[in-house]
This record gives sequence, C-alpha cells and structure tokens, in this order.
Amino acid sequence: MRTAASGSWVPDDGVSRLPAGEVHAWEPGRNATVCGVPLRRAGLARFPHVEFSDLDALTGGSGDRVRWTCPRCLATTGGRRTLRRWTRTGPRP
Ligand SMILES: [Zn+2]
Repeated sequence: MRTAASGSWVPDDGVSRLPAGEVHAWEPGRNATVCGVPLRRAGLARFPHVEFSDLDALTGGSGDRVRWTCPRCLATTGGRRTLRRWTRTGPRP
C-alpha cells in the first residue's frame, strides 16, 4: 500500500518528496484512497514511492510533517508499525 497526502515536503537531502498534513493509504492505479476519499476532490497528492507502512520511519525525529493519519486506512492496512512486505503490489517499473 502506498501513500496519499494533503501536502508534501522535501527533506534536507532533497532526494524525494515526502507526505505531509493529512495522510491516507492509497493503492497505485486507483483514484481514491483505501477508505474511499476521491484524491482529486480532496486535493490529495500521490506518493507512489512511499510505503504507507513505512511512514513512521520517514516522519520520525526531525521530519514529522504528518499531522493526521487516517484511522480507517490504518485499520485496513493493519497499522503503521507492522511492516508487511506482502502488501507490495508488484515490482517497480
Ligand atoms: Zn483514509
């Protein structure tokens, strides 16, 4: 499961965009979040390179830009702290 968020930021190393603000789980190829929020109508950006289950590691310490994580998406994906590799949907292009 990947990530959709209401905002984004780029860390000091500048490698890639990371989610900020309100965060949902999102499955690539869909136009809505896992909990059913339409991405475009809600103004959510897609982060196909960010695993939803890895958000804790990404936002811990100095970079905590995530204000709210959707509890429905958390429940559906089994929570952030469980790194379930089998949720990967396929090889990277
Ligand atoms: Zn959600």
